Amino acid sequence: MQDSNEMRLEFDSRSCNEGFARVAVAAFLTQLNPTLEEVADVKTALSEAVTNCIVHGYAGAVEKILVHCRIEGNIIEIRVIDHGCGISDIEKAMEPLFTTKPEEDRAGMGFAFMEAFMDQVEVLSEPGKGTTVIMKKKIENPAGKFAD
Ligand code: ATP
Ligand code: MG
Repeated sequence: MQDSNEMRLEFDSRSCNEGFARVAVAAFLTQLNPTLEEVADVKTALSEAVTNCIVHGYAGAVEKILVHCRIEGNIIEIRVIDHGCGISDIEKAMEPLFTTKPEEDRAGMGFAFMEAFMDQVEVLSEPGKGTTVIMKKKIENPAGKFAD
């Protein structure tokens, strides 16, 4: 596809890598000339998805998290993938305020934030195999092309 561009990251599920993933994805996004608000939205959604892999998917164990980004036209698609415990009831997990870790002061708002800041959020998961969160956002680039 002429109008597409892809990158992939793989990193350990340590919270210190969350900032790395945010900055790397934000840097990749700059080719679409996003507004500061659009960059902030994508970074927030990515942080929530990566944090979920660390605290829920792997429950603190150090394993690999994958972030696949694809730009097609003026849409960025981000996949955040773990091979951790998975989610048994995806619909319930995505309800605002639902959390399986209330004792750790989790608010159950991660998926709600992802849905608020991105145009589309899809969750694929299988217990024991892992979770993939697919998020898409249209960047309202008036030039409508890559900035290279
Ligand atoms: P908050 O994000 O507000 O700190 P939270 O992480 O519990 O709280 P969500 O991010 O909305 O809230 O996630 C809801 C629930 O979905 C989690 O409590 C967890 O049970 C499940 N979940 C989310 N992501 C994953 C994942 N990658 N692997 C396994 N379970 C997950
Ligand atoms: Mg969360």
